[in-house]
Amino acid sequence: MSAFNEEHVLSVHHWTDRLFSFTTTRDVSLRFSNGHFTMIGLRVDGKPLLRAYSIASANHEDHLEFLSIKVHGGPLTSRLQHIQVGDTIIVGKKPTGTLVIDHLLPGKRLYLFGTGTGLAPFLGIVRDPATYEKFEQVILVHGVRTVDELAYHDMLVEHLPSHEYLGELVTSQLRYYPSVTRESYKNMGRVTHLIESGKIFSDLDLPPMSPEEDRAMICGSPAMLRDLKHMLEQRGFEEGNTSKPGDFVIERAFADQ
Ligand SMILES: Cc1cc2nc3c(=O)[nH]c(=O)nc-3n(C[C@H](O)[C@H](O)[C@H](O)COP(=O)(O)OP(=O)(O)OC[C@H]3O[C@@H](n4cnc5c(N)ncnc54)[C@H](O)[C@@H]3O)c2cc1C
Repeated sequence: MSAFNEEHVLSVHHWTDRLFSFTTTRDVSLRFSNGHFTMIGLRVDGKPLLRAYSIASANHEDHLEFLSIKVHGGPLTSRLQHIQVGDTIIVGKKPTGTLVIDHLLPGKRLYLFGTGTGLAPFLGIVRDPATYEKFEQVILVHGVRTVDELAYHDMLVEHLPSHEYLGELVTSQLRYYPSVTRESYKNMGRVTHLIESGKIFSDLDLPPMSPEEDRAMICGSPAMLRDLKHMLEQRGFEEGNTSKPGDFVIERAFADQ
């Protein structure tokens, strides 16, 4: 039996010349937890060319969604960025990953720190009613370089709060904090600096993070993960994983070459 399903592209949206997202059909047998990633790709010369991708759609939806970088000369994304509605995508049947709320101990607040395409796993988590049952407050922090890289901004600010089923939960429990590093914007600076300086907490009128009350998920570059993990551990947070829940969990948004 093949390890992959073949899905059809339903829509494509180009956010910038470096970033796009797309939706595909979803095989009814595909099961995943919100926050999981899976292998996806294209057939090139008859062989699968695959990369890890976070699933950006929620597991209760009947389609799949992915948010993708366009790497200049990248083996997969130099091709993937040209996909059109109706094209075929290969999707791995075994989603996995650490960014799952069950891998966190109970807490009062859940911080979701994502940079760049590291936002993707959190898009399912903030659309999951179970997230709001487990945590009183959910704070989604998205760090990017330029304002136009704030993918899904309008969905998070406008559509989700007025969503038929999730709207009430989102309006009362979700805080969204977009931050930009290379342009003028209402929130500016790197996620690590915003935490270290305490600016993010004063802006949101929240106490500084503590392992007694707060839990965190982090998805970003290897360097961002290293810095943020270090900062949290200095504050007494313990890392969790798929076998032992902890105060925070991390996942790479991509691997360095
Ligand atoms: C667990 C996991 C989850 C991932 N989820 C996603 C996702 O949801 N969306 C996504 O676009 N990519 C994601 N990636 C990265 C993805 O697997 C590929 O690296 C990416 O699609 C580029 O593929 P490529 O073949 O074109 O270039 P590659 O040869 O794979 O990458 C070339 C170089 O481009 C840079 N790069 C790759 N991906 C990114 C990125 N996302 N942001 C910034 N720089 C990058 C890195 O420096 C990398 O070394 C994930 C990676 C891992 C390990």
